[in-house]
Amino acid sequence: MFRFYNTLSRTIEDFKPNEEGKVAMYTCGPTVYHFAHIGNIRTYIMQDALVKSLKYAGYEVKRVMNITDVGHLSSDADTGEDKMVEGAKREHKTVMEIAKFYTDAFFKDFDAVGNARPDVIEPATNCIPEFIHMVETLIEKGYAYVAGGNVYFDTGKLDDYYVFSSSVEKDDLEIGVRDDVEEDVNKRNKTDFVLWFTKSKFEDQALKWESPWGVGYPGWHIECSCISMKHLGEYMDIHCGGVDNIFPHHTNEIAQSEAYLGHKWCNYWFHSNHLNDQSGKMSKSKGAILTVSLLQEKGYDPRAYRFFCLQSHYRKPLVFSYENLDNAVLAYNKLVKRVSELKEDGAVDEIAKKDFENKFCEACSNDLNTSMAVTILYDALKADINDATKLALVESFDKVLSLDLIGHAKALGEGASVDADLEAYVNEAIARRAEAKKAKDFATADAIRDELKAKGIEIKDTRDGVEWHLL
Ligand code: AMP
Ligand code: ZN
Repeated sequence: MFRFYNTLSRTIEDFKPNEEGKVAMYTCGPTVYHFAHIGNIRTYIMQDALVKSLKYAGYEVKRVMNITDVGHLSSDADTGEDKMVEGAKREHKTVMEIAKFYTDAFFKDFDAVGNARPDVIEPATNCIPEFIHMVETLIEKGYAYVAGGNVYFDTGKLDDYYVFSSSVEKDDLEIGVRDDVEEDVNKRNKTDFVLWFTKSKFEDQALKWESPWGVGYPGWHIECSCISMKHLGEYMDIHCGGVDNIFPHHTNEIAQSEAYLGHKWCNYWFHSNHLNDQSGKMSKSKGAILTVSLLQEKGYDPRAYRFFCLQSHYRKPLVFSYENLDNAVLAYNKLVKRVSELKEDGAVDEIAKKDFENKFCEACSNDLNTSMAVTILYDALKADINDATKLALVESFDKVLSLDLIGHAKALGEGASVDADLEAYVNEAIARRAEAKKAKDFATADAIRDELKAKGIEIKDTRDGVEWHLL
């Protein structure tokens, strides 16, 4: 049974899709006003692992993702400046140029870490008629009102607006809303949110459309409700996002979708936690943005970054530092080296393979325990089974892990070097040991051998010189 933590019920639940064997999934996509940082990419890696784990467990998955290219203001509470307009001003480009450039940059990094693209990718600006239709229906049903030229959702009409929160958190959230500096006097309730802006605060808002309420543009939340319904229908199984999306974005998505549909919309909410740097949460608005491409320029393999992410649980915050990443790189390179040493040495032991695959599937199905899944990969490599079976398992597990171990191992066999730093370190240690032996200082020579062993490197004296391999 596939199980994971549902933010809606605050428990780990057995997953039961609306249609047996099929999963309708939606992912909040990037706001393309700037580069996606490695934190954003962590979220997409964990979602990719979820999709692939569901497929590994036998489900058919249809996944839809939006691209936010309009309407997301710099504060999630409808205040501040439109992020796209902000990006355009910063770079002296048009909003559409900004959207194109950062959408392309996003997918470059998204692909590089081994993510599969969603089945449907839809920019918000493609769906303006759908947004207008939903807003019209919400007004007809009495859930939305026009004030000061804008259209607002009336959260006072709902019995339970704070679907994700306990009463304690509700108080905190209300304080958060009250403290917002720019209070909008048109709102009937503090938590009401904009469905459609016509009285733009931004005279230079570039993207505007005709609507029954005048020329304007949509609020941020409406796009995810409309785009998901357009492609997945009225019932959805899993909605994904980062924890910062829980409030207000996902809370508002549920409010407007269920008011529009008149029934429950999405059963499972999957939220992954943030990547933090030592100074706190990474964010695009903080200035210097660390991207996967930048890591690549510094010599880090994007798959090693994926490995770093998979080693920790998606519901825990993860702290990024170069030291932590370096450790993951070393471990990843060792894995590649080990896989490169496997030989096609006969028939695959199908029983042993199935046994490991079941364990692996169990780990992935148990609230996406990717670090356990990685441990099972290590167990398989250490197990008393032939190399052919090990290779078959590496290939099988990579359907979820997407570490491209076999591809990297082949490249290694074709002359690409193991991590250059590692190689230099080992060669230097071997040279020091040779010196010690020449000086008949066997204690030092043995200490160097032990030092290497402690780092997972074994050396062997052969007639052709010293050979080494990763343990
Ligand atoms: P955005 O482009 O800002 O809309 O964010 C894209 C995705 O990244 C959303 O699902 C966010 O929840 C998520 N996200 C934002 N900041 C972080 C972070 N520091 N670590 C992990 N995910 C994040
Ligand atoms: Zn969304």
